[in-house]
Amino acid sequence: MKYNRCGKSGLLLPQISLGLWHNFGSVDSFENGENIVKAAFDKGITHFDLANNYGPVPGSAETNFGKILKNNFQGNLRDEIVITTKAGYTMWNGPYGDWGSRKYLLSSLDQSLKRMNLDYVDIFYSHRFDPETPLEETMMALDYAVRSGKALYAGISNYNAEQTREATEILKRLGTPCLIHQVKYSMFVREPEEGLLDVLEEKGVGCIAFSPLAQGLLTDKYLKGIPENSRASNPNGHLQLEEVSEAKVQKIIALNEIAKGRNQSLAQMALAWLLKDNRITSVLIGASSVGQLNNNIDSLQNLDFSAAELLEIEGILGQ
Ligand code: NDP
Repeated sequence: MKYNRCGKSGLLLPQISLGLWHNFGSVDSFENGENIVKAAFDKGITHFDLANNYGPVPGSAETNFGKILKNNFQGNLRDEIVITTKAGYTMWNGPYGDWGSRKYLLSSLDQSLKRMNLDYVDIFYSHRFDPETPLEETMMALDYAVRSGKALYAGISNYNAEQTREATEILKRLGTPCLIHQVKYSMFVREPEEGLLDVLEEKGVGCIAFSPLAQGLLTDKYLKGIPENSRASNPNGHLQLEEVSEAKVQKIIALNEIAKGRNQSLAQMALAWLLKDNRITSVLIGASSVGQLNNNIDSLQNLDFSAAELLEIEGILGQ
């Protein structure tokens, strides 16, 4: 594993990080999830990403991760891993279980720590911008989370370029710099290139790209229809069947040919394509098996692209 500096901070993150959004809930096999986390750590993936609402049921991914930690990461191993959680999407009923108030963020962080049986998380994120809460309030909650020792660093996710600029400036004034932005970015989702990545570079904030495989679309999984054991066919999966459109599949087939020419799987090429940009600190993958995880880690063996390959890829994506 290679480790990149997260923005202008002191923290190094692995080029590939593991997210527990899918495959770690109470509806999933605990043993499979535990094996994936263990295999990831053995390969140098030191960063595990959670959120209060991951499951289903919401909260159960954190509870399961707490058990995985207890079974496998006793003692000083806690100091070898970076654990993150977030609050911002609907978590509990009533007016205090959603969005960006201080009330929600700080009580949610306490709940997350209890579920994982931790004293602190490494990074606590505001999961989304709240248009109805003053940004100062949300950022002050992150600052407090760090000052109270319940988080070591603060991060934001799903904020646009302007919201990010403002949030980083507020956090800087408060004395808790924004460590990282978690953003949806892949060959199929290019919006971060329209200003956000520039703001992050200017402000010295790291960038971790989530759903870098577009939830599995940028793999060889959907080349021949929708297999049974796929996120698109899973009733608990967030990949909608409509997203596996004929036009997308044509692009996936063409991209897969380029990947073959590079002696990579399409998943490996999709991850390498993101990591070629040195503004990307880490790609935050999901995996439903140890086999997928290992396949994805092998992307690090070839992160270089020729100008001709990049042009060809753009040609396909722009169709
Ligand atoms: P990916 O785009 O990496 O999709 C992962 C899925 O793709 C896997 O579960 C698997 O699905 C399939 N897959 C992965 N590797 C392969 C392979 N080598 N070959 C074939 N299929 C493969 O990421 P996710 O969408 O899972 O998101 C990753 C993480 O990002 C989340 O766990 C979470 O931590 C974070 N995230 C953050 C968000 C935010 O708002 N901040 C929102 C969403 C995610 P299958 O089940 O079909 O096998």
